[in-house]
Amino acid sequence: MVSRQPYPDSYYAATRNPDPGYPALEGDIECDVCICGGGFTGVATALSLAERGYSVVVLEQHRIGWGASGRNGGQVIGGFSGEALMAKRLGESARDLIWDIGWRGNTIIAERVEKYAIDCDFKYGYMDVALKPRHMRAFEAYHAELLRRGFGDDVRVVQRDEMRSVLGSDAYIGGLINRRSGHLHPLNLCLGEARAAAGLGARLFEGSEVLGIEHGSRPLVRTSAGSVKAASVVLAGNAYQQLEIRHLSGQVFPAGSFIIATEPLERDLAQQINPLDMAFCDPNHVLDYFRMSADRRLLFGGRCNYSGRVPSSIRRSIEPRMHRVFPQLRNTRIDYEWGGNIGIVVNRVPVIGRLRDNVYYSLGYSGHGVNMTHAAGEIVADAIGGTLQKMDLFERVGHWRIPFGQSLSAQMVALGMLYYRLLDRL
Ligand SMILES: Cc1cc2nc3c(=O)[nH]c(=O)nc-3n(C[C@H](O)[C@H](O)[C@H](O)COP(=O)(O)OP(=O)(O)OC[C@H]3O[C@@H](n4cnc5c(N)ncnc54)[C@H](O)[C@@H]3O)c2cc1C
Repeated sequence: MVSRQPYPDSYYAATRNPDPGYPALEGDIECDVCICGGGFTGVATALSLAERGYSVVVLEQHRIGWGASGRNGGQVIGGFSGEALMAKRLGESARDLIWDIGWRGNTIIAERVEKYAIDCDFKYGYMDVALKPRHMRAFEAYHAELLRRGFGDDVRVVQRDEMRSVLGSDAYIGGLINRRSGHLHPLNLCLGEARAAAGLGARLFEGSEVLGIEHGSRPLVRTSAGSVKAASVVLAGNAYQQLEIRHLSGQVFPAGSFIIATEPLERDLAQQINPLDMAFCDPNHVLDYFRMSADRRLLFGGRCNYSGRVPSSIRRSIEPRMHRVFPQLRNTRIDYEWGGNIGIVVNRVPVIGRLRDNVYYSLGYSGHGVNMTHAAGEIVADAIGGTLQKMDLFERVGHWRIPFGQSLSAQMVALGMLYYRLLDRL
């Protein structure tokens, strides 16, 4: 039995909204849909289903939002990893639907923040920043696509000579601003959505690790102190999940991503660094991302480990990267450092589908999951309701499975990391 772990020490845990917490499951209960995992995937799916009148149970082994959903960069970025490959593989007829899926999550988040009055510092404003001329060429092509899709004045290419007006750094040669993406406090979003689902009758349990699933016409989900009999089951444990390894292992691998948060910056310094209060991300495979918190801390993140292991000092591995971008922060104190696991997929397309008619899964967003988990929750809810059009797209893409799955994963992913680092240098 795994006991419930507290939230890891982070800026988000320290500033989370008061929440009542949820009990552990004790005894045997029944419902329409049992969801295993209480991050964005599990909670967003639960809310989509509860809004449609299903009776829903969420089983989370630790706390709601304990995994990547409560620890991430908080960047709500439209599109999803592997989108281009998926569009290429499925052809012209699927292109518009794939595009809609990529932007659906942003809409769901904005609607929920408003509808359920979720206090999570949600703000529009995001910028892709370029390190190389080829990045600018890619942004210009993407900008043209966004204009074709009706984004109008919400998107804008920024050239080098204008960069200082949008970012207090000389590290980048330009970028693409998008005002339909943005940033928020992810743990507070997750907790707010959980509260909304509970308000609609969903039953949430913390400290309730799913130990196994007995398949059948009504599968039985077991924890150490109880069980849930359901018409459908959803696997939503992403990089932390060890369930149904025979079917899912070798497709999604854990990779560590890490963040540091500075002390609150003086108003003038914050204004100079990030005058438009946007979130930023570079296009490298091993990327840097940053934004300002509501209390003017710089939250600076980077992915520096594909082996699933935590570096001996997160701060020492991320701080030099932050100083490279913002030398003016050399004397700024670091108040928090933390990390979490993202689920990497070899071809980067999220792994969304069915193990059998009544067991669904959604995982592997390859580090781009704040919006996509919300689109995925709706896709899974649609599929449970009998509308499979979008889930079919993901099932049709097909995924490579690394032989020997879990046992080789760390080494395979570490090798992959090396490969992508080399690509970034080109
Ligand atoms: C440091 C970091 C920064 C990131 N930054 C961004 C960003 O800025 N923008 C972005 O779009 N994405 C970002 N991501 C990725 C994003 O956070 C994830 O894609 C997303 O949160 C995945 O949500 P999830 O619910 O699928 O998984 P998780 O949030 O990891 O949740 C899975 C949950 O399942 C539970 N669980 C697992 N097994 C069991 C079991 N057997 N029984 C019960 N419960 C179980 C776990 O305890 C966990 O709480 C980042 C990730 C990290 C780690």
